[in-house]
Amino acid sequence: MNAQHSLAQHPLAQHPLALYIHWPFCVSKCPYCDFNSHVREGVDQARWRDALLADLRHEAAVLPGRRLGSIFFGGGTPSLMPPETVAALLDAAERAWGFTDDIEITLEANPSSVEAARFADIAAAGVNRVSLGLQALDDPALAFLGRAHDVREGLGALDIAQREFARVSFDLIYARPGQSLAAWEAELARALGFGTEHLSLYQLTIEPGTRFATLAAKGELTIPDGDAAAELFETTQAMTRAAGLPRYEVSNHARPGAESRHNLTYWRYRDYAGIGPGAHGRRGGYATVRHKKPENWLGAIDRNAHGMQSEDPLDLRDRASETLVMGLRMREGITVDPAWVDMAAVDRLVGHGLLTRDGNHIATTEAGILLLDSILPAIAKA
Ligand code: SF4
Repeated sequence: MNAQHSLAQHPLAQHPLALYIHWPFCVSKCPYCDFNSHVREGVDQARWRDALLADLRHEAAVLPGRRLGSIFFGGGTPSLMPPETVAALLDAAERAWGFTDDIEITLEANPSSVEAARFADIAAAGVNRVSLGLQALDDPALAFLGRAHDVREGLGALDIAQREFARVSFDLIYARPGQSLAAWEAELARALGFGTEHLSLYQLTIEPGTRFATLAAKGELTIPDGDAAAELFETTQAMTRAAGLPRYEVSNHARPGAESRHNLTYWRYRDYAGIGPGAHGRRGGYATVRHKKPENWLGAIDRNAHGMQSEDPLDLRDRASETLVMGLRMREGITVDPAWVDMAAVDRLVGHGLLTRDGNHIATTEAGILLLDSILPAIAKA
């Protein structure tokens, strides 16, 4: 596919564009992690900055006439990026597209003291929202999760983040081996007490290819089963709702109005460009994928001045199915096209209390969100 086609006139072009920037390096690999993250002895920072800028320029050339409503630095550990690289990318993005007045610029950070020391410079570069990988408020749990920080260091970083950034979110992983309901209730109550506007609360899952998957296969690691996990999930919903941070997506909770606008772009199936190793994009009716391995992506930049591995048109069926998969993750639900969705099957699931329906607008209930993987194939027309 010729990447030089202009996508400015696509019907989805009226919404602000979102930009995802992937930084693929971490200090160490966490045993549960299946993200595109790599540990390297040294990183040629000037080369990486220039390569990301080249990848950005490519997307800008195929997406003229758009304004950016959000930017997300994800990883990997983007808080390891030199703040000057963050600033250079934001400067280039603003020149290329222009920003909406209320642009949301998020950076994922690990809560180590070394990274927290950079928060002021990262904020000065233009980042206005940080998402901290706190993961647990319990030292043995952090050691089990292979995290480099302990609770004291993590909370120190949270404190600095709350001073430096207008908007702060943090992640916790629950449903850990042996974690009782009472222990999670106490940990979540403490987390809610820090007063952030947003929380991402993930149940631990065993992902293929991770160290935890090897341990689980050997019978050395078990995580809470269906009923116990469901009880933990329901408690999480009740506590976050009571605290004014209801769930707006499977694992994401926010004060109304403080949702991650960037992630809502994905779930509402609006246009986003993705640059950096392994980044995906959905823009102008095309699905883009960058080379995943850092060295392969750099090689592609050298050859082509962009890191694209594939760029494929999305037909109506692809888009309908991706819209459904994304939309049902959100509490707000989605308006579906009956051409692609079996409304009789929807009504059966409404009868079972798993979906709600108002005309062609459908949404998952609290019970339904736990069964999302079974609901989707049941209602999507073949
Ligand atoms: S810090 Fe994040 S991206 Fe890096 S290995 Fe750990 S979980 Fe994965």
